[in-house]
Order: sequence, then structure tokens, then C-alpha cells
Amino acid sequence: NRSAYIQKTEDNFSNAKNTMEETLAELRETFKSRRTRPVAWRKKQLNAILNLIHDNEDLIFKALYKDLGKHPTEAFRDEVGVVEKSVRDSLSCLEKWVAPKKRPLPLVFFPARGEVLPEPLGVVLIFSSWNFPIILALEPVIGAVSAGNAVVLKPSELAPACSKFLKETIPLYLDKQAIRVIDGGADVGEKLLNLKWDKIFFTGSPRVGRIVLTAAAKHLTPVTLELGGKCPAILDTISNSAEMKVAVKRIAGGKWTPHIGQACIAIDYVLVQEHCAPTLIELLKKSIREFYGENPKDFKSISRIVNKHHFERVHNLLKDPEVASSIVHGGSVDEEKLFIEPTILVNPPLDSEIMTEEIFGPLLPIITLKDIEESIEFINSRPKPLVIYAFTKDEAFKRKVLSETSSGGVTFNDAIIQFICDSLPFGGVGQSGFGRYHGKYSFDTFSHEKAVLYRNFFPEIGPRYPPWNAFKLLF
Ligand code: NAD
Repeated sequence: NRSAYIQKTEDNFSNAKNTMEETLAELRETFKSRRTRPVAWRKKQLNAILNLIHDNEDLIFKALYKDLGKHPTEAFRDEVGVVEKSVRDSLSCLEKWVAPKKRPLPLVFFPARGEVLPEPLGVVLIFSSWNFPIILALEPVIGAVSAGNAVVLKPSELAPACSKFLKETIPLYLDKQAIRVIDGGADVGEKLLNLKWDKIFFTGSPRVGRIVLTAAAKHLTPVTLELGGKCPAILDTISNSAEMKVAVKRIAGGKWTPHIGQACIAIDYVLVQEHCAPTLIELLKKSIREFYGENPKDFKSISRIVNKHHFERVHNLLKDPEVASSIVHGGSVDEEKLFIEPTILVNPPLDSEIMTEEIFGPLLPIITLKDIEESIEFINSRPKPLVIYAFTKDEAFKRKVLSETSSGGVTFNDAIIQFICDSLPFGGVGQSGFGRYHGKYSFDTFSHEKAVLYRNFFPEIGPRYPPWNAFKLLF
């Protein structure tokens, strides 16, 4: 009956809450015991991640295929291979990262010594999103354990096979006393956010990012928000046709090959001068044919839209009649297969949703400009993107892009590959998020940089203490 059902549901909720609270309490005990501090423990966890990846590569490929239709090559390129690289980098640099860094002091401090000592934050909560469900879960875990923290990972419910894989496999390899996976949807996320963490690292949408930030404010918990938005690509006039071909192929790759546009750093739209648009469109069509054949719907290894909700969301973007009439290539959909064709549009209305919301799918609007320099104002009149891509040989224009726009990052003459460059920080600015990670930046994100000043008792200078008089000002 209904009341028994309600009681059962409430019990489930309170049990779930208890379990989370108990989990957090256990992890706090572990952290307090200093178990996670030694470099040896951190390296053991990093090696365990490496083993987890190696031993279970096939299972990971299967899970990624089941959730997202990802081809194993794409799965290796974007997920497994990147985890492996990150772990190896962290293992080779860890000793250097944990060492205190000497800092010069002003002469007035003499004799003294100053240093910055990284210390772990405590128990950290990591939320990941579904579109790269392995790398976006494990990359921050690599940073968190490198920095000596205990971790709760909340993978995304929208990639259930990957989420299940992480939940079942992580405890077999990593230290259960310090690293846990709690899976579930928004309800579980909300409950986790009610607890007090020492850091929350969130990858996801600006909408949920706001919820995370609001919850964190209650406990003054530091937060990193890795959010999304609309990443523009500017295509300048490139007179050399071979270079133009490479540029457009990279634009096509930057739009469709990361998971048919379901990537935070995928190209959202292209800005191009009117006279270059026909060449751009022709070369884009050619790339689509090269990538997916004449009939992408029948192509076996093309990713699909993650679920019905997102299929409808992307499909709805095309239903606006003015948007539909701007399609110059593609536009077909198959709801049963959650398939949306790689689609090119030219000058859809700027106030339509396709130009105001993050597309996160295979639709590519092209906006034509009279002069390429108008792209600066176009970008500046919208929220700050995670990445700006600019394809140009003009050094003055490159400087203009750098000095007159703001974005998480800028990549010239390529797309997407900045993600695997760990010597560069990865993160957003403004609406695309704040904080950064990858490589040493991940270590820093999960550490507190403690300022340490070492002094001796002598010499002791009298004028620093009251009673004050004019003479003391001279010192
Ligand atoms: P999402 O915000 O819906 O979900 C992210 C996480 O938050 C998931 O684990 C989800 O379970 C959880 N969640 C959802 N609702 C919640 C709530 N009310 N309370 C607490 N937790 C909740 O995002 P998504 O659909 O998984 O991912 C797509 C978005 O993420 C896009 O905007 C994309 O650009 C962005 N993204 C950013 C990056 C980056 O590195 N900057 C990477 C991938 C995706």
C-alpha cells in the first residue's frame, strides 16, 4: 500500500544518507590517521590505477561502447590512453611536486627561511560527467591521490555501464579505506552536497555547477567547476590551399570526432569571412564523407547521442523553422538509433537556441562575417568560452585574439589536442568554470600551499613593539 511504500522510500533515503555519512566519517578517520600522506601510499594508488586500466581495457571498451557507442580506438585515444599518460606523468613527478619550495625573503627578514609546503586538503568529492566517463572520473582522482587526499567519486548516472565498472573495479585495486565510489543520479548528488567536504571538484553543466557552488558556500568548501559552454572556432582567410584543407579537417575533427560534438571542448560554431564560407562548407562535407562514409547513419563506429532526453534537446534545436532553413548539409535523425547526422548550418538566427545554448551534439553553425576581426566582438558579446580555436597565419591577429578576448584557453591552428597537454592548465573562466587541473595543476588543485616562515629568536629589534614614538618610524 501507499503508506508502506512511502515509509520504505523514506527508509531507503535515510539509509542512503547514513551510508554516505558513515562513508565520509570513515574516510575522515583514514585521513586523520595520516595513511594517505606518504609518497609511497600515493604512488601505490597511482600504480593501482595503471593496473586497473591495463587489466580491464576490454571491459572499459565494452562499457564505453554500451553507454556511448564509442569505437575502441576513440576510447583508447580519449580515455584509456590519457589516463595512462597522466598516471605515468604523476608518478615521475610526484617527488618533485610534494617537496617544499624555497621562497626568497626580503632582506628585512634576515636571518630567516621561507618555503611553500603543499599539504593535502582532506576528504574530497569528485563529480564527473557522462561524455568521457572514464577519463573525467579518473583524471581528477589521479590529482587527488597524488596530493594525498581521501576521495569520494560520484560518476554520472547517464553512462551506467562505465559508472558500474568504476564502482565495482575501483575497490578491487585502490585503497578502500581512502577511496570510494558512490553512484547514482541527481538525488544522490544532492545528498552528497549536503555533507561537508574539504574540496568539491565538479565536471558538468553550468546549471548544476550553480547548485554545487550554492551547497559548497554553506560549509565554505573550496570548489573547482569544470563547466561547458559554446567554444567558437575562427577560420581566418588562409590562401595556401593545402593549409586550408588541414585547417578545415581539424575543424571537422574538433566538431565531430570527439564523440559527435558531445564534448565540452568540441567546436560549437565557426566564424568565417563570407568569401571563405563556400570553401569551408565543401571541405567540411568532404571530411564528413571521409570520416563516416556516404551514409553516416549506417556507419558502424559513429557515436550516438547519449539518451532520449539529449536526443530531443539537440533535435529541438533544429525544429525552429528559421534554423531548419539554414541547414546546408545533413539534418536527418533517427530517434530509435539516437542518431543525429553531422549537420552544417549557415547563419541561423543569432537569437535562436542553437546560437545561445551549448549545442553538445553534431550540429555545426557557420556564422559569416564581413571582416574576420568582427569575430572578436562576436565572442566578447557572449559568455566566456572554455576554449577559443583560431585558425590563422596572421601573427597580429593571433595577438589580438589573445589580448582582446577571454577564455579558459586558446588553441591556434588545431583543436581538442590541448586536452592532453599536461604542461598547460585545463579549465574555464567566467561561465565556463573556474579552477584548473591536469598534470601539476591537478596536484595544486587538490593541495593547500602552506606558507612557512622559519625565524630565529635573535637578533631582536626593539622598534617593532610599542610604546610608539616618532623615532621608531625611522626604522
Ligand atoms: P550535469 O551537470 O547534468 O551532471 C554532472 C554531474 O552532476 C553528474 O554526476 C550528475 O549526476 C550530477 N548532478 C546532476 N544534477 C544534480 C543535482 N541537482 N545535484 C547534484 N548533482 C547533480 O552535466 P552532464 O550532462 O553530465 O555533462 C554535460 C555538461 O558538462 C556540458 O555542459 C559540458 O560542457 C560539461 N562538461 C565540461 C567538461 C569540462 O572539463 N569543462 C567536461 C565534460 C563535460
